[in-house]
Amino acid sequence: MSNYDKLHKHEALHRLKDEMEMDDLLPLKKGATRLVFGSGNTEAKILLCGEGPGRQEDLQGLPFVGPAGKLLDKLLILAGLERKKVFITNVVHHRPPNNRDPEPNEISAYGKYLDKIIKIIDPKVIITLGRFSMAKFLPNVFISQVHGKDFKVGNFTIIPMYHPAASLRNGNILRQEQQDFLEMGKLLPEILDPKDDKVVLEQKSLV
Ligand code: URA
Repeated sequence: MSNYDKLHKHEALHRLKDEMEMDDLLPLKKGATRLVFGSGNTEAKILLCGEGPGRQEDLQGLPFVGPAGKLLDKLLILAGLERKKVFITNVVHHRPPNNRDPEPNEISAYGKYLDKIIKIIDPKVIITLGRFSMAKFLPNVFISQVHGKDFKVGNFTIIPMYHPAASLRNGNILRQEQQDFLEMGKLLPEILDPKDDKVVLEQKSLV
């Protein structure tokens, strides 16, 4: 049990964000403009995890606000979702230089915070976007073989999806990802309680 359990989730996330802002050991901090902690509904039952902030995210301090984020908004609608129903974060929370892939030591340094974010939000479903996020929960699988499928990992249902940036580069991946989000829209009611929706809409968001 973490120290955060006794606090309201919203407050616990703000405290964790403050802690991250002050952590000068985070390996990508020096090259980044802002920390991109995560945003969305703090009572969400669905958490999305991307790879790392891009240029727009780095400037605004918010996840998925650039071109990949615009596509993500449309994909969420295909699944009957919207941002205010989910919480969105990343594997690393500072922008890697020139948007390069995050390195293993970076993934592990930010991973301890990501674990705390997940613990506080306590989602039922984690949608991973791209292979770095997928590998945290489903190591040793290929995204081309598992995208759109659901996996029970501990208490979570993990649904690995292609990264929206990959869909922006490749029309075939885009069509597949649209199909995966549509199918996920049919699957989610089987995983979530109907009352989860009500809880989610009533709660505060973290920006
Ligand atoms: N790509 C990501 O993986 N995360 C973001 O927040 C934005 C783009």
